[in-house]
Amino acid sequence: MSVAPARPVAVLGGRFAAELPEMAVPWRGEQAPDARLVVLDEDLAAELGLDAGWLRSPDGLQLLTGTAVPAGATPVAQAYAGHQFGGFSPRLGDGRALLLGELTDAHGHVRDLHLKGSGRTPFARGGDGLAALGPMLREHLVSRAVHALGIPTTRSLAVVATGRTVRREELLPGAVLARVASSHLRVGSFQYARATGDPDLLRRLTDHAISRHHPGAAAAENRALALFEAVVAAQASLVARWMLVGFVHGVMNTDNTTISGETIDYGPCAFLDAYDPATVYSSIDHGGRYAYGNQPAAAQWNLARLAEALLPLIHDDEERAVELAVASLGGFRDRYQAAWSAGARAKLGLPADTDPALAAALAEELLDVLQASRADLTSSFRALADAARGDTGPLHRHVLDVDALDDWVGRWRALEPDPDAMDRVNPLYTPRNHLVEEALTAATDGDLAPFEQLLDVVRAPFDERPGLERYAAPAPPDFGAYRTFCGT
Ligand code: AMP
Ligand code: MG
Repeated sequence: MSVAPARPVAVLGGRFAAELPEMAVPWRGEQAPDARLVVLDEDLAAELGLDAGWLRSPDGLQLLTGTAVPAGATPVAQAYAGHQFGGFSPRLGDGRALLLGELTDAHGHVRDLHLKGSGRTPFARGGDGLAALGPMLREHLVSRAVHALGIPTTRSLAVVATGRTVRREELLPGAVLARVASSHLRVGSFQYARATGDPDLLRRLTDHAISRHHPGAAAAENRALALFEAVVAAQASLVARWMLVGFVHGVMNTDNTTISGETIDYGPCAFLDAYDPATVYSSIDHGGRYAYGNQPAAAQWNLARLAEALLPLIHDDEERAVELAVASLGGFRDRYQAAWSAGARAKLGLPADTDPALAAALAEELLDVLQASRADLTSSFRALADAARGDTGPLHRHVLDVDALDDWVGRWRALEPDPDAMDRVNPLYTPRNHLVEEALTAATDGDLAPFEQLLDVVRAPFDERPGLERYAAPAPPDFGAYRTFCGT
């Protein structure tokens, strides 16, 4: 039996809507003809003070589809702009999403409760406002894996099947995802505020963002510049973490780049199989703009767009504002490199006082060897711990140029790597593309067992468990070039 609600859901606040009404259109979710809970993250529900039993009830499902909300809540579609693949749209916004409101979690942190796939809004343009079950389960699964890897991310509380059919290339079951984030403020939110030409709106948005995410900036002499620097730091650290585990976001548009530094919008995302910086999975990314190896540059480009939006608040004199912003943006590279080097040192099992430049150079040499062999990134790094323990067999299986590898291993082992520490940072289980496809195909056909099994596996990515060998194995050779679709 479930415990009585820690808190009634009636405490959903409407702070974004109250502080930034110009960017919030009051709206409701579309009726779901036959709402059915498909998956619920009970740990997250508990963290939010929401009772899992209540969420499963008809009232809970109405909240999770946005069709009935607690008294006092003001669900809104949020306005934002964005550069998509480099082209600017001044008015994107939540075309199929709703911010239900803010909750205070068990740690006293304010979190957004938001829905995706809840029906058309005034921002829908040509879209149907809906989402298909497969892509929503993908977001649930991959965001849970990213969280388990210790990487900042928006979370998925639940996926509810609506009983509605969604027309894509074929007819698919529809669903709504309930997403939890420290906020849904994006670079595109600032671009929207700037494009309105209303300096007061831009100032209020800046204050709202500082208060929610980067309170240290409140005391700064130049608050807007301090906010910008905090976002640069958060994004540099985030993207370094993606790179270290081989995560490819796939659609790093400015509307998918958060102010908090959390990963958001799991569309055409994937984890690398063979290590190759040129890897692109998204079917619509023809130019490779968001290829794995371009992600740091893409993040920096997006941050430049944030700086442009903030310029009037950075300094009255535009030339001076640009100078200050350029200097702060220049910090991205060093911050990224520092975060990446520290992570690479840990992946190689080297002590914390190892010279970061040495650790980075060693890791890059290894990556060159892996790339030449198209070796599986996750398996190769996991096999390194075996090599540290004296058994190079598992590592040799992934690499063609064994001589080059052994030369590298000899120099690395002289630094006395700690294999147990490596097993705590090099995952054994990631949501591998062939397993994700298998699970989502079965779920769309009504069989949730493979999805639930894979979810269970990726929730504990570092602990080896017997019987899960196939979840740790690289993709079969006939899996071929993987493609994911934004057609969500
Ligand atoms: P995304 O690629 O998911 O980040 O979405 C980019 C923009 O397209 C956002 O403004 C979304 O709200 C909108 N959008 C995506 N899919 C749909 C849909 N099926 N119906 C309405 N709007 C959508
Ligand atoms: Mg988006």
